[in-house]
Amino acid sequence: MTVPFADLHQQYLSLKTEIDAAIADVIRTSAFIRGPHVERFEQAFAAAMGTSHCVSCANGTDAIYIAMVALGVKPGDEVIVPSMSWISTSESVTQAGGTVVFCDIDPETHTLDPDKLAGCITSRTVGIIPVHLYGQPAAMDRIVNVAHARGLWVIEDCAQSHLAEFNGRKVGTFGTAATFSFYPGKNLGAMGDAGAVVTNDAGLATHMAKFARHGGLRKGDHEIEGINSRLDGLQAAILNVKLPHLPTWTEQRRALAARYSEELAGVQGLCLPSCREGTRHVWHLYVVQSEERDALAGRLRERGVQTSVNYPRALPFLPCYSRLKHAPEDFPEGHALARRCLALPIFAEMTVDQLDTVCEAVRASAGG
Ligand SMILES: *Cc1c(COP(=O)(O)O)cnc(C)c1O
Repeated sequence: MTVPFADLHQQYLSLKTEIDAAIADVIRTSAFIRGPHVERFEQAFAAAMGTSHCVSCANGTDAIYIAMVALGVKPGDEVIVPSMSWISTSESVTQAGGTVVFCDIDPETHTLDPDKLAGCITSRTVGIIPVHLYGQPAAMDRIVNVAHARGLWVIEDCAQSHLAEFNGRKVGTFGTAATFSFYPGKNLGAMGDAGAVVTNDAGLATHMAKFARHGGLRKGDHEIEGINSRLDGLQAAILNVKLPHLPTWTEQRRALAARYSEELAGVQGLCLPSCREGTRHVWHLYVVQSEERDALAGRLRERGVQTSVNYPRALPFLPCYSRLKHAPEDFPEGHALARRCLALPIFAEMTVDQLDTVCEAVRASAGG
């Protein structure tokens, strides 16, 4: 048996009738840009995330950029991001005109280390972008406390953490705003690019919507110059079909992760992911660590198990940040995770047989 890293087609098959009908409806009504499907999704997603506003946009990277522009980021402003994330988190800071400041992660949870946060704050710091990496909530209580004390905004990057919870409260409700990606492989995925920002701040929501739609909410207004970043009707219609299934899919991911952790406990040379106490991890990725990561990935591939490295380099060490001249000892935890991390297959439709096949292959491949 071969096990894919993810199986998007399987999810489509499980909802084929509804998805095909939704797509046909968009085509029949030519509701390609804005329209009822987009409005319905914005309302449904805000409700599902427990926030009062949702501004949809073209992708999860734009979502972060739009939120930052609306929060008034300007040249010279410093924004703190974790040392380990997808590049969207940091590149959008630069795109908004700000300066990226990296903060190392906590080795247990792989999220922004609150102990290191104070040391990153200067008189120019305006905000913090914690990332709930792999689906694990960042330490939102402490991060929000620091932000309040210093008058900083917080944008939660929730691209990997739909429906995750910290102390019984959904991620995305702690920050000034929270951004989501519906890239096909995310826990809630469209059939193309899609994204959104949620917030409880009505003024901020209006500003973000305006900016994302050429600076005006009504044709001809253009109160400001904006950009064109829209969720298209087809993607919205597909997301409307999928959203009601997200709680079930999340439960399935959590059950699969629990089984991984049970079956792989004690495997030599393998470090299993831990779960912060009081949180609800949603397992966008099940990431193990090994000193022999590349060899392990190779042996798993030979046994028909696809894996993925998320991510092979911590953000400060990407070529695009060579100008900052960071050394591994500046961000030891991000550096170590990038060297050791290996994501095993996990997706809602994964069968127990598939998972057991992966575990058998890991047991046979780990520790040399
Ligand atoms: C996927 C992702 C994004 C960006 O999403 P896109 O929709 O691909 O632009 C941002 N941050 C993180 C942590 C992500 O994983």
